Amino acid sequence: MLSDLRSIIQQVSESADLEVALEVIVSRVKRSMSVSVCSIYLHDEERSRFLLMASKGLSRKAVRKVSLGFDEGLVGLVASREEPINIEVADQHPAFRYIPETGEEKYSSFLGVPIIHHKRVLGVLVVQQRVKRKFDESDEAFLITLSAQLAGEIAHAESVGDLKRLTSGGGADQEIEFHGLPGSPGIALGSVVVISPVADLYATSAVESRGEKTEMEEFNEAVLRARLHIKNLERSLSSHISDQERLLFTAYVQMLDDQNLGREVKQRIKEGASAQSAWSEVILAHCKHFEAMEDPYFRERAVDIRDLGRRVLSYMQEHESDEIEFPDQTILIGEDLSPDVLGIIPTEKLAGMVSAQGSVNSHLSILARAMGIPTVVGVEGLKPGRLRGKEVIVDGHNGYMYANATPEHRSYFEELRREDAELSTELEQLRDLPAITLDDHRIKLLVNTGLMADVRTSIERGAEGVGLFRSEVPFFMRQRFPTEEEQRQYYRELLEAFSPRPVVMRTLDIGGDKALPYFPIKEDNPFLGWRGIRITLDHPELFLGQVRAMMKASYQLDNLSILFPMVSGVPELEMAVDLVKRAHRELTEEDGFDEILMPKLGAMIEVPSAVFLAREFAKRVDYLSVGSNDLTQYILAVDRNNPRVVDLYDAMHPAVIAALHHVARAARAEGISAGVCGEVAGDPLGALLLVAMGYESLSMSASNLLRVKALIRSSNLSDLRMLLKQVLKVANVEEVHQSLADFVQDPELRKLTKLGKKRSH
Ligand code: PEP
Ligand code: MG
Repeated sequence: MLSDLRSIIQQVSESADLEVALEVIVSRVKRSMSVSVCSIYLHDEERSRFLLMASKGLSRKAVRKVSLGFDEGLVGLVASREEPINIEVADQHPAFRYIPETGEEKYSSFLGVPIIHHKRVLGVLVVQQRVKRKFDESDEAFLITLSAQLAGEIAHAESVGDLKRLTSGGGADQEIEFHGLPGSPGIALGSVVVISPVADLYATSAVESRGEKTEMEEFNEAVLRARLHIKNLERSLSSHISDQERLLFTAYVQMLDDQNLGREVKQRIKEGASAQSAWSEVILAHCKHFEAMEDPYFRERAVDIRDLGRRVLSYMQEHESDEIEFPDQTILIGEDLSPDVLGIIPTEKLAGMVSAQGSVNSHLSILARAMGIPTVVGVEGLKPGRLRGKEVIVDGHNGYMYANATPEHRSYFEELRREDAELSTELEQLRDLPAITLDDHRIKLLVNTGLMADVRTSIERGAEGVGLFRSEVPFFMRQRFPTEEEQRQYYRELLEAFSPRPVVMRTLDIGGDKALPYFPIKEDNPFLGWRGIRITLDHPELFLGQVRAMMKASYQLDNLSILFPMVSGVPELEMAVDLVKRAHRELTEEDGFDEILMPKLGAMIEVPSAVFLAREFAKRVDYLSVGSNDLTQYILAVDRNNPRVVDLYDAMHPAVIAALHHVARAARAEGISAGVCGEVAGDPLGALLLVAMGYESLSMSASNLLRVKALIRSSNLSDLRMLLKQVLKVANVEEVHQSLADFVQDPELRKLTKLGKKRSH
């Protein structure tokens, strides 16, 4: 049974969709356990019942017809107890409920296990036996293992709307909600343009046929080119390869023949498929076939077929990007949108973006925030191809996207979008006013930036300077490390654009989720590995080059501060400070830079050890800057980019608040200034707490700046301190949010806190 288990799990995880996965489970479990019946009931949200979704053994007619209330029958009992129920004589159990349509009365023994995902019961997996049978512990363990695997599949189907479609019996136009991460705030309504990764065999299903003749021509041309390519390759390698290996090339050419893959593809094109989707389907089917073979030689051929598939597909897609038509209000959707997509669409047509991959701090999100484009990233299970041309809503405030939205839902979001626009216009009048509380406490509001593209928006929003320049961003845009002079020019442009406002430049912070394509780092635990200052101290040539470029760039502008990321101990900090001092000393000895000023130096507080060492750090630098994004992830042990644990990631967690409070006090005790440059500084309610703690500057994405300013200008520091006092006593995160929400009563101000925007999901 154990080897069966592994192979069932494998088959389930490879199933094309949930329906297939359910069928696989019921039929294979029935065989493996030698039971009379195996059935799966799933939670039907709309009807608040458990619907029989698949069964081997019960009457076929009962599937998708029979359902049970939440506390009905043995199925209801399993769900409410959230544990397996194993009964030898089921029909004598008080909870037993007879359902004639299933023919159930014939079955005597019952074993049911709940299907649970993230504490929610999604359904029940049941086996039944006609003759009396005592299921044993290994039977239970077998089903529990399967149900855990199935839970993941169901949750995935739920997140992409397939579950709703299945339980409601079809309806391709049901509203579908996609949950991801808020990459950039704002609401966008528009039509989808899919940006497919080039030659992705999985992303062609929605490419429509333009007529048999055109599709055939496209296919024939691509095949011809692939053949030529293979022949040329064979010729150029001929002196290096054996006759045996040569045969492989012949085999590839033959594969493309009308007797082989070509025939199947052409048949599909005749049936109405596009050349791209027909080709991809055929290739993937053949890959699957080869991958399933026992012989490793044949299994490896799957890789060759996939390569061939990609090559032919890339020929078919070559002219596509020139042909994309962007409607007004385009929503760009892709598996892994990269910032270069912004180069192919006219900015005035771009309304929003959604990417299956990516994180709140990925390059795309940073750029989207800078440009004010509502964006959702990290949408698990998003199948971009299925959304081509559809009207969708992007809720970048909360990280949701909706397809096939109901008319009421559409108007709800249209209203929100209108409110957003009104609010932005209203807020513009605050641009040149200081961020000062009603009782005269002044806060500096700065922006986080990484690109020159942010500069204009930042200054338009009244930024008083840059609180965090993520210097890795210009490093991402190259094929190699930029030279000192290239860096100097880039930094100079930024320092000039903001001058005389101050600019905090952080030294290179790569590692973790920020890998440079030309400096790959492979680690099992990248967030706990070689990151930030650890890398640059190990590579003083990189560090020195960068800080020299920064200091040279600031020559006679003198608005530079330098910030060290990911510092976890005093020796690291001392080493970094010494290196900057050395670079400064050397520069002053160079012609033309003799009067260069020593910039202010700061340490980021973004790991727990730095919190506890904050006073020691404060003795060695001019300011502290809290990176609450990483600090939250390390204090709570929650990966900041992992959608599975996104509900646990919260900078308003009492433990994070205590740390933030501690750091502010440490800086004060040492008489230096402290600021926050993580996302919490741009969250209007979070910002209020930080002001109360005594942080002097808050650095955030430009799009949040005026909201935060408006809220600060309507608050009294004395009230904020009372709020902080109350929050510091609270033990759980929900209560913190409640206290913060209760603090802002005025409906106009509540709009600024985004509280009004959350819709109940
Ligand atoms: C942080 O960790 O809060 C921070 C500002 O740095 P980054 O988001 O670039 O890691
Ligand atoms: Mg960080």
